[in-house]
Amino acid sequence: MIPAQFDYLAPTSVEEAVAALGEHGDDAKILAGGQSLLPVLRMRLNAPEVVIDLGRIESLRGVREEGDVLVIGAMTQHSVVASDPLVEEHALLIHKAVQHLADAQIRHRGTFGGALAHADPAGDMGAPALALGAEFVIAGPGGTRTVAADDFFVDLFETAIGEDEILTEIRVPKHTGWGAHYEKFVRVAHQWPIVAVAAAVRTSGGTIEEARVGLTNMGSTPLRARGVEAALAGQPATDEAVREAASGAAEGTNPPSDLNGDADYRRHLAGVLTRRAVLAAAGA
Ligand SMILES: Cc1cc2nc3c(=O)[nH]c(=O)nc-3n(C[C@H](O)[C@H](O)[C@H](O)COP(=O)(O)OP(=O)(O)OC[C@H]3O[C@@H](n4cnc5c(N)ncnc54)[C@H](O)[C@@H]3O)c2cc1C
Repeated sequence: MIPAQFDYLAPTSVEEAVAALGEHGDDAKILAGGQSLLPVLRMRLNAPEVVIDLGRIESLRGVREEGDVLVIGAMTQHSVVASDPLVEEHALLIHKAVQHLADAQIRHRGTFGGALAHADPAGDMGAPALALGAEFVIAGPGGTRTVAADDFFVDLFETAIGEDEILTEIRVPKHTGWGAHYEKFVRVAHQWPIVAVAAAVRTSGGTIEEARVGLTNMGSTPLRARGVEAALAGQPATDEAVREAASGAAEGTNPPSDLNGDADYRRHLAGVLTRRAVLAAAGA
């Protein structure tokens, strides 16, 4: 189908974009890479009167370092994140996870910030961002504010971004030297995961010193498997120890049931994929 008619705005600064959002309110929708928004418009599930395209705001693109933090602009395409050497060096988990997101065409158009703002519980970027303790910078009429990952994902397709606000950048604490792995379980290649697990571990002499584990599609938002993280700390990076710690991966989750698998199946998968992800991240 063809989308309903809308006016198209292409601001060249964040301030202009925020002003346009303020002017048009509920009638406006932000356009990033369009890989989730355009299908919604084409199916006429949403019919905004105004579409505000962020594509011409250069300051929203790119990856840079700020001390201990890696800053990823919201409009940085997945393909750029995937090939950026800073991301590979300091946020290996994101580097690995983004390779599994959709196909090359979608990674070329879709953006890191767009995927996070969309907040699909099956989206691949949420769990890695949450696991690494990212912070989200949001611009609105009153200036900018920063939201911690724990507070950013509110519910299914809902984040802390207000209707008059724009996500501008994602600040990821550097995890230089950490091992990482994203274990994604899919029925069909290049699709959203049934369940996926994002794991980053810091090891020393065969012992897991610290672990960060995020779960995709195990609830209405990405989740941290904090019980598993605590159980892994100080353990040897062996199959037996990791299997034991990973067995609690589904605790406190509320996975959906759908045609791809019921909630119990997903709970089982969470344990299996967590073991695989942690062992791979630890290089065991
Ligand atoms: C066939 C197909 C397969 C896919 N497979 C996967 C997959 O395996 N894994 C996965 O994670 N994703 C997958 N995706 C989705 C893909 O990751 C999209 O890139 C992403 O969901 C949206 O990013 P976008 O830049 O295209 O955002 P858009 O589609 O432009 O926007 C998405 C939503 O976020 C809002 N938004 C965007 N940017 C901002 C911002 N800066 N501030 C405030 N609001 C904003 C928009 O208003 C809109 O509501 C797939 C998409 C398709 C079409």
